[in-house]
Formats: sequence, C-alpha cells, structure tokens
Amino acid sequence: MKSATRLISLLLAGLLAACSTTSHPVQSAALGKPASAAAMEAALATPGPVELQTVASADWVVPLSGLLNLKDPQAVAAGLADRPEPIQVYLHVLRHPKFGVFLVDTGVSAQLLKTPSKFGISSELQQMLNIPRLQLRRDAESVVAELGGQVRGVFLTHLHLDHITGLPALARDVPIHAGPGELAEQHAMPDMMRAATDALLAGRPAQHEWPFAAGRDGVPAGVIDVFADGSVFAIAAPGHTTGSTAYLVRTLQGPVLLTGDVSHTRWGWEHGVEPGDYTRDQLLNRSSLQQLKALVARHPAIEVRLGHQP
Ligand SMILES: [Zn+2]
Repeated sequence: MKSATRLISLLLAGLLAACSTTSHPVQSAALGKPASAAAMEAALATPGPVELQTVASADWVVPLSGLLNLKDPQAVAAGLADRPEPIQVYLHVLRHPKFGVFLVDTGVSAQLLKTPSKFGISSELQQMLNIPRLQLRRDAESVVAELGGQVRGVFLTHLHLDHITGLPALARDVPIHAGPGELAEQHAMPDMMRAATDALLAGRPAQHEWPFAAGRDGVPAGVIDVFADGSVFAIAAPGHTTGSTAYLVRTLQGPVLLTGDVSHTRWGWEHGVEPGDYTRDQLLNRSSLQQLKALVARHPAIEVRLGHQP
C-alpha cells in the first residue's frame, strides 16, 4: 500500500504541479478593475449582496504528500507521514442581484466521469489521477440545471484539472476568468495533461486574465474588484500556480474567503503550512498563505472555505 501511495504521489508530483500549460488563448478580462486592499478591507464590516453556495461535487483520495509539505518542521513534529488523504472537489455558486450567477471553480461533470476519454483524459491519466477513487456527490450538470443554465461566467482559482472537471456541464460560450499566466506556464508539462486541459477548454472563449499588478519578480499581486461594486474581490495568491487567485465574497451573511489551493487542507491552513508536491513554488505559496491568514486575523468575521477540505 505504502509503495503504491508513493508511486501515485510521484506521478502526481510530476503532473499536477505542472498542469497549467495549454495552447488555449487568453484575453484581458472584461470584468474587474484593480482596487486597493485597504478599500477591500474597509468594505468587510457590512454584509454584501451576494448569495454564496458551496457544493461538494465529489469525494476523492490523493496522497497527503501532494497536499501538504510533510518536510515542514511542524508536520514532522506532528508525526505526519504520507498516506491516502480524503478530499473533496468543490464548486461555489455566486448569485449577484444585478450581474447574475457565476461559478468559482467547476466541480466534477457526470459526463466526464462516465467517459473520461471523450474529454481528453486517457486511461493512463485516469490511473495516474486516481480517477477510480473519485466519487460523485453532486455532479456539475445537476447544479447548472438547477440554476436554469443561467451561468454568466466562471472564476477559476487556478487552472489545474481538478478545478475544470465541471466544464463539460457548462455552455461553450460561458466566459472563463483566471489569474494571469495560468495558460502560459511552460514548465515540464506532460503531453497527456496538456491534452486533457486543451480538450476541456476546446471551443470555449479565450480565457480572461484578471488585471493584477506585477509584484516582486513579476508575479501577480494586489486585488481586483470583480464587479466594480465592492461585492466580490479577486486576490492574487501566487505560488501553487503563478496565477493562483483567492476570492473574497461579501455575502448576505458576511464575508467568505475562498482560498483555492493556497491551502488544500484544514491542517495546512490551521498550522500555516503550505501544500506539498502539487505546488509549483512552495515558498511563494507559503507567503500567499500567510497573507490570507493575516487578512482573516484582522477580520475574524471572515468565514474561510479551503481548496479541498471542509
Ligand atoms: Zn485542486
């Protein structure tokens, strides 16, 4: 069991860490204008207009070493070792009273699980991604049907495959927004991962890139006011991937932070330990995680929803 887990971990390490490269085109985002973090934080004291629903679309099991830096002194002290770790794949539904319905990430499509090869996921890739251990709880199709098919756009936390596996449920013309550089990352992309990403994006509009500022070493930085009304903010959180983005949503019940894979796990968030092998730049990811934790420490009313665990 242990060696099998290790094998999956090694395979995923090579694959998921690098799965953001595709030949799909990009364009400037039609939505979103740069905002100051101070303006964002000043808006948090009052409830916003957005209804937010988080759907656990599927249960999955992947190696803990991908999800958490097990070499971190805290992880070592806690005696954490690699093991199969239960996680979930989410999608979040945003209902804005003026602009309509948007998704953050996409969950998992029933069609894709039924015939993965039709969506560019080869049988080899299915084994490597441990797809047989991916169990649907609520497929993306049923969520979209309940919304009357009225999804106006998708906001991705990043472009790893497990965040676009719900795309087959969405109309081809639904715009997709993500952080800058997600499509362009060109490091060690295995052909079969690239093929799957390309297949899932094929026939869809060019991806909109949030107009973040360029921070240190040119990595994305700052905050975007998505609807220019202070209701939803995209926050640059690079590291897991270059364009990784967290979303702060001002809901009727108060602010909610969707971290994406800045932290996959609850343990990682609580201890400030960054993800493991699936992450491109662990040091940068750690810094983004610390910044999000500091934001929540300044505003304890923020409810935090993590990348892959409740
Ligand atoms: Zn993920």
